[in-house]
Amino acid sequence: MEEKEISEIKEVKEVVETATQTKNYDEAYCQSCGKVIKKEAFVCPYCGVKNTKNNQGDEKSKIVAALLALFLGGFGVHKFYLKRIGTGVIYILFCWTFIPSLIAFIEGIILLCMSDNKFNDKYNN
Ligand SMILES: [Zn+2]
Repeated sequence: MEEKEISEIKEVKEVVETATQTKNYDEAYCQSCGKVIKKEAFVCPYCGVKNTKNNQGDEKSKIVAALLALFLGGFGVHKFYLKRIGTGVIYILFCWTFIPSLIAFIEGIILLCMSDNKFNDKYNN
């Protein structure tokens, strides 16, 4: 068999293997090369790109943020939750005016209406 043919067969085999790969509950597809990797992996073992699906458990929940904003928003609790510490401090300083409560209430509704993608873009990366 010619060398060219062998490499072609290898290529086809690779494509078939990639297409038939199935992932388990603890696995995810690499965003760079598309291979199946462990969710817990820090970097993809195939291409070496950082695994963005592994965010070490500090992924923020849109619902939690919205509920915090609606019920405790006057004290900026949702801002602290979303790592917007500076804004959170301002909310606490002005909580006696009830203006932060009002803003937080609106923010809570905006958070609830926000798509998951947009929320992740803004707060989870
Ligand atoms: Zn990869």
